[in-house]
Amino acid sequence: MTAPDAAEAPRATGRLAPSPTGLLHLGHARSFLLAWWHARARGGRVLMRLEDLDGPRVRPGMSDAALRDLEWLGLDWDGAPLLQSTGRERFAAAVARLGAAGLTYPCTCTRGDLRAAMSAPQQGDQEPRYPGTCRGRFATLEAAAAATGREPGLRLRVPEGPIALVDGFVGPFCHDVAAEVGDFLVCRRDGTPAYQLAVVVDDAATGVTEVVRGADLLPSTPRQWLLQRALGLPSPAWFHVPLVVDAAGRRLAKRADDLGLATLRAGGTDPRAIVAWAARSARIPGVQAGDRVTAADCVARFSMAAVPHAPVRLDPVTVAALAGARR
Ligand code: GLU
Ligand code: ZN
Repeated sequence: MTAPDAAEAPRATGRLAPSPTGLLHLGHARSFLLAWWHARARGGRVLMRLEDLDGPRVRPGMSDAALRDLEWLGLDWDGAPLLQSTGRERFAAAVARLGAAGLTYPCTCTRGDLRAAMSAPQQGDQEPRYPGTCRGRFATLEAAAAATGREPGLRLRVPEGPIALVDGFVGPFCHDVAAEVGDFLVCRRDGTPAYQLAVVVDDAATGVTEVVRGADLLPSTPRQWLLQRALGLPSPAWFHVPLVVDAAGRRLAKRADDLGLATLRAGGTDPRAIVAWAARSARIPGVQAGDRVTAADCVARFSMAAVPHAPVRLDPVTVAALAGARR
C-alpha cells in the first residue's frame, strides 16, 4: 500500500445544517460562524444543508428564513443548499443495508408504551433509554405490522459497552450508548428517517470531512459513529463548540424575540456588530468591544484552538448593545 499523496487529500469540507423548525438566534449565529471560519481558514468548502425531515416540527418559511439570516451575517456556501426532504432514496438505501446486515429490527412501541415501561421519572430533556422490548420479537416488518396492527419503525442493535471517541475541540470523551440510550431508531414509525441516520448518510454523500456544531449534539456523536461503522462510511472530524446561554445560564430556545436574527435584522442592526461579538467570544485577535467586522475579515485570524471552552453568556447589556448597533 502506498501512502496517500498530499495532493490527493480531500479538501476540508464543512457544512452548515440548520433545522427549519424555528427562527435562528444569536446562539446559532455563533455556531455557524465558527463552523464557517474553521473551514474557510483552511481554504475549505462549506456546504449548506437544510434538515427539513422532522415533519411535524418543520415550519413553513423557516428554510428561507435561515438562508436569509445566514446570508445577512455574511456567510456563503458552495453549491446549492441540499434539502434533506429530497433524500428519501438515499436514506431508504442505507436503511436497507443495515437491515440486510441484520443490524436492525422492527419496533412497534409507541411513546406511551415507552413511558409506561419506564421505572423511574426521567431527568431533563434526555430521552429515556429504550428497554429493548422489541429486540427478537418479530421476524420481519410485515410480521411486526400483522401482529400489532401498527406500522413499525426500525432500531439499530447497539453493541454493549462504552464508546471512546476524540473530539477536535472537547478532546477524548466516552459514552455508553447501550446503557444510556439503548437501541435507537434509524427509521421512525411514520417512515421518516431518524435524525441520526440522515446526518450520517448526508455527511458521507456530500464528502463532509469536518462537523462543527453545538455541544448539545455531543451525545449524538457516538450514535452517528456506530452508524458510520455499520454502513462502512468514514467519520468526519468533530468539533463540538460551547453553547450560548442566557443571563440565567439556560440555553437559548428557537424563538422570535430580541435574540432572534430576523428581529435584529428587521430592527436595523448592523450584522457586523454580531460578527464582532462572536469573533471576540472566539478570541479572534484584533477585534475590540464595539468593533464592526465582516465574517470574511476574520477568516485568516481564526483558530479553533483559541476558542474558550466555557459556554458564552449573553447578558441583557450585550443584547441591547447589539440591537442598538445600527448600520
Ligand atoms: N440540524 C441540527 C440542528 O440544527 C444540526 C445537525 C448537525 O449539525 O449534525 O440542531
Ligand atoms: Zn419496541
